Amino acid sequence: MMQESTYSVTFIASYSDGDRYPLKIEVDASGVEQAIMLATAKAESSRFQKDNLLLMSVIPELCPPATEDVNIDGILKPCPFCGNPHISLVGTLREFDGEITWFANCGCCNASQLPDSKEGATRNWNQRDEVKA
Ligand SMILES: [Zn+2]
Repeated sequence: MMQESTYSVTFIASYSDGDRYPLKIEVDASGVEQAIMLATAKAESSRFQKDNLLLMSVIPELCPPATEDVNIDGILKPCPFCGNPHISLVGTLREFDGEITWFANCGCCNASQLPDSKEGATRNWNQRDEVKA
């Protein structure tokens, strides 16, 4: 199954008074081509004519990819705030003693936690209560 994400498709559209304005349409699609197709269809169903549409940009609203130790083996539970399954375990150097400490981070809503050992950070993240954002 193709994974769908949200795309912001922006056209420049002509209005009946002759002025031209940006027209931004959000669609859920599995790729850029499909996003353009769906957005064009949406625009056509409005009062704009297709040949007045000038495609300006297609921007996927994706979660940023996980960094550092990516959660490929599913050790870290999905983000309790936004449901993003791609949680990163990020190592950081603690300045006062030079120790590497770790924290889980959601690149989507930027939920994070206090640094701990790698095992502690994993345990703490997975013990989070589900909180509705
Ligand atoms: Zn999140």
